[in-house]
Amino acid sequence: MSLNSIRPWRDIYRRKSRQIMVGNVPVGGDAPIAVQTMTNTLTTDVAATIAQVQAAAEAGADIVRVSVPDQASSKALKEIVMESPVPIVADIHFHYKRGIEAAEAGAACLRINPGNIGDKTRVAEVVSAARDHGCSIRIGVNAGSLEKHLLEKYGEPCPDAMVESGLEHIRILQDHDFHEFKISVKASDVFMSAAAYQQLAEATDAPLHLGITEAGGLMSGTIKSAIGLGNLLWMGIGDTIRVSLSADPVEEVKVGFEILKSLGLRHRGVNIISCPSCARQGFDVIKTVEALEKRLEHIKTPMSLSIIGCVVNGPGEALMTDVGFTGGGAGSGMVYLAGKQSHKMGNDAMIDHIVEQVEKKAAELDAMAETAE
Ligand code: SF4
Repeated sequence: MSLNSIRPWRDIYRRKSRQIMVGNVPVGGDAPIAVQTMTNTLTTDVAATIAQVQAAAEAGADIVRVSVPDQASSKALKEIVMESPVPIVADIHFHYKRGIEAAEAGAACLRINPGNIGDKTRVAEVVSAARDHGCSIRIGVNAGSLEKHLLEKYGEPCPDAMVESGLEHIRILQDHDFHEFKISVKASDVFMSAAAYQQLAEATDAPLHLGITEAGGLMSGTIKSAIGLGNLLWMGIGDTIRVSLSADPVEEVKVGFEILKSLGLRHRGVNIISCPSCARQGFDVIKTVEALEKRLEHIKTPMSLSIIGCVVNGPGEALMTDVGFTGGGAGSGMVYLAGKQSHKMGNDAMIDHIVEQVEKKAAELDAMAETAE
């Protein structure tokens, strides 16, 4: 939120959370909301896992989680951590030894629920391994795997039970004077998840990791996540997000960024504003946007581009974008630069031309940002 905002209806007041570090990435406080994903390769297949981590990082992931189900995976983790451009979270679940091994292997964070790993000695061992190796912890409550006593108390998974579970795990870490943790309360049900996060946001100042778990495939999972996470983020809740999709981790990162971009919470790459097209279009808007999305994937500079089929909305949208193209008659359209009409361009050469204009603008913006630093 900017105090001098001239568009107050765009302001999001973020909940004040404590800041922790996941490797070199700050999470919580006034840190940018971090985007996470998780690999789905066998962790023991080091080459494949590293390739997936790198692809996710290239797409913008700030943090990547890797499953560590057995000792062989703990060994592989060490190599993965060394090659990874981003901090790695080790997904442990139940076995305390894996937690210790992962901390020793250089994981930046352990995803482990201290209440699920056995007696006090085991918990103490994992916590001291985390402390000794500068590892944070993520408590991950899931509606599908709530503790028996809470299911008995509440009768079924519900927000109250999820929050109570989270607070029980928090208490265990606090009893060990360990405060470098974040927490999630995920459910596949959007209502349950959102309600649980809202309650949890009131009950703790720990940074919150948002996610709608088992959200589904690319299309349905994106929509569920956009509704669930979008509403929470709009309320100012959430310090890091993972969009869970039955799809490539790169897609999860892209969707995560698009959700944050839609709310003005993060900016990365080209924000394309395009019309749905209709009979008035002066060129094939859909094919052009598809081609531009691919051709502009390498641009990381936050900027905007409007691709509008005709003059009904083209000039108005172009006013607010860095580069714009509006379809016209006779096989050509108008190029706009910094909101101003610039020059005409034939439809046949417009894709290459727009890519060139965007690259030029990105270089200009990068140079300006460097001077400002
Ligand atoms: S901007 Fe023009 S081409 Fe695009 S949907 Fe509107 S009227 Fe149709």
